[in-house]
Formats: sequence, C-alpha cells, structure tokens
Amino acid sequence: MFVVTVALLVPPFQAYSYLWPFGDECPPRPGLLLKVPLGPRQVPGCLLNADGVYRDDLRAVEHCSKDPLFPSAMVAFFEWTARYYHAPVGEVLATALPAAILSGARRVTAPELVYTASESDVLPRGICKRRILEWLRGNGPATGSQLRAHFPSGSASLARLVAEGLVTKQGLSPNTAAPSPSLPEVEPLRLTSEQETALSQVRTALASETFAPFLLYGVTGSGKTEVYLEAVREARRRGGTALVMTPEIALTPQLVTRFRERLGEGLVVLHSGLAERARQAAWQAVQSGAADVVIGTRSAVFAPFERLALVVVDEEHDSSYKQGQGLRYNARDLALWRARNDGAVALLGSATPSLGTFLRARQGKTGLLTLERRVGGRPLPEVKLVDRSGGKKRGALSDELAAALEENLERGEQSLLLLNRRGFAPFLLCRDCGAVPRCPQCEISYTYYRRRNLLRCHYCDTVVPVPDVCPQCQGTQLVPCGAGTERLEDELAARFPLARIARMDSDTMARRGAHERLVAQMRTGEVDILLGTQMIAKGHDFARVTLVGVLDADATLFLPDFRSTERAFALLTQVTGRAGRGMLPGRALIQTCNPGHYVFNCVLSHDYGAFFAEECRFRQEMSYPPFGYLVNLVVSGSREEQTADAAARLARALAETAPSEVEVLGPVPCLLSHLRGKSRFQILLKAPRRAPLHQALAALERLRLPSAIHLVVDVDPIDMF
Ligand code: ADP
Ligand code: ZN
Repeated sequence: MFVVTVALLVPPFQAYSYLWPFGDECPPRPGLLLKVPLGPRQVPGCLLNADGVYRDDLRAVEHCSKDPLFPSAMVAFFEWTARYYHAPVGEVLATALPAAILSGARRVTAPELVYTASESDVLPRGICKRRILEWLRGNGPATGSQLRAHFPSGSASLARLVAEGLVTKQGLSPNTAAPSPSLPEVEPLRLTSEQETALSQVRTALASETFAPFLLYGVTGSGKTEVYLEAVREARRRGGTALVMTPEIALTPQLVTRFRERLGEGLVVLHSGLAERARQAAWQAVQSGAADVVIGTRSAVFAPFERLALVVVDEEHDSSYKQGQGLRYNARDLALWRARNDGAVALLGSATPSLGTFLRARQGKTGLLTLERRVGGRPLPEVKLVDRSGGKKRGALSDELAAALEENLERGEQSLLLLNRRGFAPFLLCRDCGAVPRCPQCEISYTYYRRRNLLRCHYCDTVVPVPDVCPQCQGTQLVPCGAGTERLEDELAARFPLARIARMDSDTMARRGAHERLVAQMRTGEVDILLGTQMIAKGHDFARVTLVGVLDADATLFLPDFRSTERAFALLTQVTGRAGRGMLPGRALIQTCNPGHYVFNCVLSHDYGAFFAEECRFRQEMSYPPFGYLVNLVVSGSREEQTADAAARLARALAETAPSEVEVLGPVPCLLSHLRGKSRFQILLKAPRRAPLHQALAALERLRLPSAIHLVVDVDPIDMF
C-alpha cells in the first residue's frame, strides 16, 4: 500500500502522510487534488509524492480528482518556494492554484461558491468589508458557509466586495470566461540595429537550451517590448513555451493587445483580477498544452508549464512583483528559479534595473543587452528642476510648470502630472494648538477628502466625519495642509478652466474598466492634462504626451527606507520617460525643495550608471542588499506589552542560536508602530550570505509564541514599514 504525502490547502497548510486506498488502477500521482481527514473535518489537500513511510496510525485519503492540477515537475518548485520563504508548502499551493480549481474538491461534499481575495492591495471602505477581505487574505479562499460562520451578518458586505472586484467568487456563469480571440498575426516591425543585436543573443541562448539570464537594459521608449515579442516568437518556433510577466495588467492593456496581435492564438492572460472561471480556463489551457504563452502578473509565475523555454520579466525592478501579504514571494526571483531549473532563457527588462540585477550583469553573472537609444532616433526628454525651497508658495504648481502647461494646451499637446498622494490634503492642522487629527488604530494622520468631506486613514481605511472644532483645544481653525491629487485637480480646474482634466489614482480607478476607459480617452486625445499617482508612470505609451510634471519629488525621496533613493530614481526616470515618445519631442519639469540631491543629477542626465555607482557605495558601506541579505520579522499583537515581550524573546532566541554571520537588529517598534489596532515590532536579520539567514530562521520553527501574537517572516523584504 502507498503512503502519500499530502499538502493541506487550508490552515495549518502543513504536509502530512496518508494511506492511499485506491489501489493500482488509480495510482497516486503528484498534483492530484484530494479530500483528506483532519481531526473531525474533511479538508482539501494536494498530493506531493508517494514516498511516505507506513505507520499504523495513518488515516486514508477519502476522495481524489481524476487529473493532476499541475505537472509533477512543479512539485520541486513549490517545495523550494516553501523552504525559501519559510512557509508551509500548502500555503504555497493555496496561493498558486486558482480558487475555482481548488473548489473542485470541495464540491465533492458541498457544492458551494468559493470566495477569494483578489490580488489588489486596495482596501475597501467600511469595517465589515475590510474585516472579510483581511480574513480572506490571511486565510486563503473560503466557502460561503465558512464565511457565514465567521461573519454572521456579513453577506451584504461580501456581495459588495464581489461587486467591487476585490473578492472573486467561483461559480459565475461560464460565459464570463473570456476566450482568447483568434486574431491574425500582425507583421513584426523592422527592428533597430540595437534591438537586432539584443535579439540575436537571445536567439543563440534559446538554441542552446540551457539556463541563460539576461538583463535587457533599455532607456524608456527604446522598444524593449519588441524584443520580448520576437523572443517569444522564437521560443515558440522552436516548440517551446514562454511566460511573460508584467507588473500590473490592468495598467497596461496596450501590452496585452500588442502581444495578442502579434502572437495570435495560444496566448492566455493569467492574473488574479480575472473572474475565477476565466482564470481556471487559462490555467487549464496551459496545462493541457492548448496555450504555449502566458502573459500575466506576479501570480502567473505559478502557471503550470511542464518546462519553460523563455521567461520574460518586464520592468523587473517593480516592487509589485513582491506580494506584500500572505506568502511574501517575489515573482521575479521565482521566475529566475524556474528558468534555471528548466534550462530556460530569462529576460529581465528595465530602463531602471534594480541594483541587484544590474550588479549581476556587471559581474558577468547575467548577460547584459543594452538599448541606448530611443526608437527612430527620438531624443530622451529634456528634464529640468524647479527649485521650490524657501519663499511662500501659492498652491502646488510652480509658475514654471503652470507656464509649460499653458503652452502645451495652446499647442494641443497632452501633459502628465505626477503627485504621489491621494485625497485633498495629507492632514488637517489646528492653527491654534498645532494638533493633527490621527487614526487611533494606526496613529497616523488622517488624509482629508474634501469632495466627500471626510477624514480617512490610508492604512486601515477607517473613515470619520471632519470635526467642526479641534478635538484637543476646541479651536475652529482646522486647515488642510499640503496637497493631494484631489486638491491639485481643483487647482488645475481653476487655473485652466477650458482644459480637459482627468485624474488617475486608486480612488478614481476603483471600478472595473475605469482604467481602460481613461487610457482610451488619452489615446484619442479627449484628455489634455492627466494627473495622478505613480499609476500614471507605469509603462504607458501615449504618443502625444510632450510634457511631464512632477509636483513633489521629495515625497518619495525622503521616506525612511534604504531603498528610497532607488525608488525615486526609478519613478522619476519612468515618469519623465512618458514624454516625447511619439513624433514630438518631450520635456519634463521636476519640482523639489532639495535640488542639490545627487539623484536629480542622474535623472537630468539620464545617467543610470552614475546613479548605480553612487548608490552602491552607500549600500556596500551598510551591507544592505545587494551586498547583503535581509529577513524582516514583524511581531504584532493587540496588547503592547505582551507583543514587546514576545519580540524581545524572539530576538534573544535568534541571537543565541543564529550563526555568527547573522546580525540580529532589534526588536524596535515598526515605523508604523500601530496598525489596525495592533502593536508592531520588528527584528531585522542581516547577513552577507543567504545560507546562515535560513539557518537562523530554522531555529524559529521550534519557538512557541503566545497564540495572540502574530509573526510574519519576510524573506528579502521590500516594504520595511
Ligand atoms: P519601452 O522600451 O519603453 O518598453 P516600447 O517597447 O513601448 O518601449 O516601444 C516604444 C514605441 O516604439 C512603441 O510605440 C513601439 O511600437 C515602437 N517601436 C518599437 N520598436 C520599433 C521598431 N523597430 N520600429 C518602429 N517602431 C518601434
Ligand atoms: Zn488607521
């Protein structure tokens, strides 16, 4: 009799041994979806292997799906991911597999709808909706009855979450599955010589069928997408499969269109914003071999390809490849693992590569393909600084930027404005006593929304009415301070009453399809000025944008995070790179109070090399990545003292057991020391190599923390707040 190892797809997500009762006519195969007993319950699980050792007390598998959910070759990938991120393998599977597929097993006993949190990081309004969403994000997909047990009066909120697209439910009518339209293949463009040179190296690597990583470092508008497309066509011509990853599909509908036009049938889109049925259909198309190319967001890294020939990671520096909750994986890094394991070519593309990727290219560990020039010999935009330090400012727009906007309006050309802050003003201030209304749950100032006349916490989404008087001194002079996108929109409307102005931020783009509509309006020239948060910087290719304005470059630059300069450089380069991509030349104006900061010199001269050199000096000195490795441990709990105790105990245990190469820093209160009513402490582990860090973490698994304490282990953290 076989003994099989089964990863549970519900908490505790561990892998346990079970007996295989189905005999030889139904042999155990990795990837089969099972129902197994766990205590008094029956829970879904996934078969990992059949090499278990017999014991008397083993219980038997109860149900089994006909076909595996993924190729058996992928088991090693899931197991590696679990080890690397110190998560149970069942949690990796529950993250990887589309909920509709998982619910197949549940239907054996209960034909129920299954609800899954979408991949978006948006927080809904309303306490009940938020609780449900957080629960789903923390616990993974759940059936309607499980949710009813936890949230007895939550059915209306659940329905609204589904309507808003923040939660998907399996069981939607089948026609919501978008079939990939069979389009005729469009003829490729004539490649530039730089594109041709880059591509020929990729072709050679594809022919050798061994792992070959490349960085495609190309300035904005240099035609990286064309290289991806041709590389995919080449992989396909050789009979191979390809995975193409992009940070956010909803933000780059043009990318998908271009791929569809060029690749015709056999391409599916895979991301968790899809209706569950569509996601399931795409997944099955990959597994059956009907689809040989996937284009998708971070979750697409789990696509069930037997063996990949090519992996493309567009905008490889983008932090949305890192999942910020649940399993904290980085899809770019996992994509590289898959490429290595499958002997595939990995093509990482960016105009502003992450320091680590560029360092590896410099060291010769990754091939470097460079596109130095824009397509058609178009110049890069002319970038200027506007010094906003000193003096009194009327409004968010400087005179220089206002004049440039005026000129653009007269010429009938489009402008983009970046202001990386939502709402009307980042806080209200009492003129009399200096008090700032704060969210009691998070101890962070409330953002003021004037249109809806309310205060909102951007961390926990609590909404409260605007107080008439200062809660502290009863003074009546509460004034909005600073500017967010709402205020900028008002200011623009007042200054340019005839301009057609549109705003793109997560408040205005919450509804499904809102983004596509706005992108279409930009293309047809129905918008003169598009303002928004960093969303406007991502990958757009609008030919008539000739002016880009950055309202407050310092907001990104001076976050207390060692990556803030890298982030600012990338954001500024990307957003200014939206200008002058068509026939008309572009320019950009950046407003700052710190014009002397070195990052601006590098942005002005389009000099990534100089930025890289300067930034590396600092990182090396501090042993920060890419010259060292980090793990961030966040300990949280409702009771401050108990949480602090647990964090201290954890740090002591780590300091005692960790290899000497590992530095244990902390515990200290997190920068966001209170979030959603929980106290938070962090311990940072730092080491020159990865292995000792993982050894240190192994010791954690034996440590018992009070059940009221929640521990998050974040390997290679990006967000350190
Ligand atoms: P990026 O490097 O910023 O990703 P894109 O791939 O979006 O640049 O290309 C910028 C523009 O140049 C697009 O409109 C694209 O269609 C066009 N383009 C790319 N390659 C060529 C080419 N070889 N000939 C003509 N136009 C091209
Ligand atoms: Zn809050």
